[in-house]
Amino acid sequence: MSRIAYVNGSYVPTADAFVHINDRGFQFADGVYEGITVRRKQMIDLEPHLDRLWRSMRELKMDAPMARGPMRIVLRELIRRNRISDGFLYLQVTRGEAVRDHAFPEFSIPSFVATCRRLNLAGVRARATGGIAVSTQPDIRWGRCDVKSTSLLPNILAKQAAREAGGFEAVLVDNDGYVTEGSSTNMWIVTHNGVLKTRSTEDNILAGITRARVKSIAKKLQIQVEEESFSVNEALSAQEMFLTSSTSCAMPIVELDGQKIGDGTPGPVAKRLVEAYFDFMDD
Ligand code: PMP
Repeated sequence: MSRIAYVNGSYVPTADAFVHINDRGFQFADGVYEGITVRRKQMIDLEPHLDRLWRSMRELKMDAPMARGPMRIVLRELIRRNRISDGFLYLQVTRGEAVRDHAFPEFSIPSFVATCRRLNLAGVRARATGGIAVSTQPDIRWGRCDVKSTSLLPNILAKQAAREAGGFEAVLVDNDGYVTEGSSTNMWIVTHNGVLKTRSTEDNILAGITRARVKSIAKKLQIQVEEESFSVNEALSAQEMFLTSSTSCAMPIVELDGQKIGDGTPGPVAKRLVEAYFDFMDD
């Protein structure tokens, strides 16, 4: 069965899904996106994802391609047409097609594409059992990382460098030696007092939807959360480390730049949060 994409008003086989070469998404990465996990045909945290998408569009003075109601319908239909049970929905809005000029066009119709593919969540859970290795990379991104923009060149270069260093994810580090976030994830540590630390969303990072969810799960479990930056050295001497994102859920980190975190196996707090996050998805 060929996969079906949604492209500017039509559901089409992926092989026939095209956008114009003058689309500003293609020309300038003048676009925003969301990635939503689908668990047993249900979209996880759909409304916070739509809130963030609308915020990103507002921040870039971009018009919405449609209202939220119809967008929900398109996304549900895409899951149905692709017969997805566990999957990953990708949606992207760009400023649309216009003659190439850096300044905003006087008139353009926003472009909206969405795809849905299978995501092996059992595999994600299995990976969480062993934990992952990560490597630090300098954070060379811009000053508006709160916007979920498709301009991801620094992120993909960091991820690739991490992969070449044998890591699963890049831990981005600012000029002062503090961890900002991952190339496509949010970073957390567990201190020796059992407190969770993760950088504040006021501090030029993306407000991860999984981050917010894990924060509220932690509160329910009476685990203290401090939204405060931590340095690479703090991470190296932390009790535990983990990351969060829609596709990785909560994922224990057992090695940073070749050095063990804790005893080099997923710690009890991270393991509890992985369980609790899957329970939340299955609720
Ligand atoms: N930070 C960055 C830079 C990201 O790209 C992502 C995922 N898109 C995240 C964090 C995690 O966000 P979420 O939990 O909403 O997937």
